[in-house]
Amino acid sequence: MSDHFDVIVAGGGMVGGLLAAALGSARGAGDPLSVCVLEAARPDPFTPGSEPAHDIRVSAVSVASERLFRAVGAWDGVVSRRACPFRRMRVWDGEASESTHKGTEFDAHEVGVPALGHIVENRVLQLALLDCIEQLPSVSLCCPARLAHYRVSKQGDDTSNIAVTLDSGETLTASLLVGADGARSTVRERAGITMPRSVYEQRAMVATVSTDLPQQDITWQRFVPTGPQAMLPLSGHQASLVWYHDETEIQRLCSLDEAAFIEALEAAFPTELGAIARVHQRASFPIAKALAESYISDRIALVGDACHTVHPLAGQGVNLGMLDAGALAETLRDAKVARQDIGARRTLRRYERWRRGENAMMATVLDGFHKAFSPQAAPVRGARALALELAGRVTPARRQVARYASGLAGDLPRLARTGDSV
Ligand SMILES: Cc1cc2nc3c(=O)[nH]c(=O)nc-3n(C[C@H](O)[C@H](O)[C@H](O)COP(=O)(O)OP(=O)(O)OC[C@H]3O[C@@H](n4cnc5c(N)ncnc54)[C@H](O)[C@@H]3O)c2cc1C
Repeated sequence: MSDHFDVIVAGGGMVGGLLAAALGSARGAGDPLSVCVLEAARPDPFTPGSEPAHDIRVSAVSVASERLFRAVGAWDGVVSRRACPFRRMRVWDGEASESTHKGTEFDAHEVGVPALGHIVENRVLQLALLDCIEQLPSVSLCCPARLAHYRVSKQGDDTSNIAVTLDSGETLTASLLVGADGARSTVRERAGITMPRSVYEQRAMVATVSTDLPQQDITWQRFVPTGPQAMLPLSGHQASLVWYHDETEIQRLCSLDEAAFIEALEAAFPTELGAIARVHQRASFPIAKALAESYISDRIALVGDACHTVHPLAGQGVNLGMLDAGALAETLRDAKVARQDIGARRTLRRYERWRRGENAMMATVLDGFHKAFSPQAAPVRGARALALELAGRVTPARRQVARYASGLAGDLPRLARTGDSV
């Protein structure tokens, strides 16, 4: 293995893996870039057909993210393992009168796509990407390997290189280091980039359940003042629950015995979901919002959770990161074609201007959702129920919501526009 690369990507998770595949794929603009991915831990292998319960960590993969996976050749590795498409999304106000209880249904055909998205285990997404990058001649995967520290070398007034030291003591150099190393990013911390964080007063409980009926092609989302509750379809008879509430209630729900927990779930979701037969796993997480003050530094760029964390109520977190990966890959490949320095601030600013605004806007929208469904006075509740009903009845509003849900709104990277060409 050479020890100099165009790009070193610290973190081969869902976002870092996608970035490396997009940089090293033969299908982008110009020649592939040489890339080294450092990943601290390889996920357990996944054997289709012999994995009983779904993993507890799943993501709602948007159409835009699916297109990015298709464009780099990683989508087959996802569907050959396990993925569940959803074509419809039912949203209802748990406080509204009986007449609006059925809520609003959004459908994929309104935006002309076969599915609004897929629910996929995080492990499956990461494994499909690792398989893909291991096939690319211009990408080297070092796993297990951790970035320990780095140093930017200067030549005159200019910074020309970055030297990255691994925990093994080995040193590699590159024109650019990308931090795709998650919410506790070492790259961000060492670059001195601050990321103010505010913790919501809610926690999220996640669980995998089995239902008597096989899963349908629909996600169920119930909004109540204490926080949303969602049931996402998995393949076969399983579904993934996400339930937001304050810490005390989440602790109580986590400690209920299985029968009492099932009773609470069946009271919250419509009978169309079918009786809940089993609860496989339960876990809970704190919820926070955080946006990095900058996405770039000297020969450094950040992507994914390393530079933003949003409220997970709309399942947007990893999808924003995947769009970061698509946008950064496009920016760097275009810069290389134009014979520009891929690690120069001028190049990196293009990426930052593109993605920082889009991510900040999404964080604000999700904050607004969170506040609109927090405990409120009767007139606000009435306005909220009316807004939800109007969004369901007025065709352009329905279409816009479906576009956001499928990740097709905003300034998309070229790879996410069609999924099969750039
Ligand atoms: C309760 C909950 C539910 C969620 N639901 C959804 C959802 O439905 N849809 C959605 O889009 N998002 C969801 N999210 C958010 C989503 O999980 C994150 O946005 C996503 O994991 C971020 O991906 P990432 O690749 O940026 O970071 P990570 O997944 O954190 O990956 C970082 C990678 O870097 C590696 N690493 C770390 N440090 C180093 C180092 N020093 N050297 C080498 N490697 C390193 C790690 O091993 C890891 O593989 C949810 C989050 C929570 C808490």
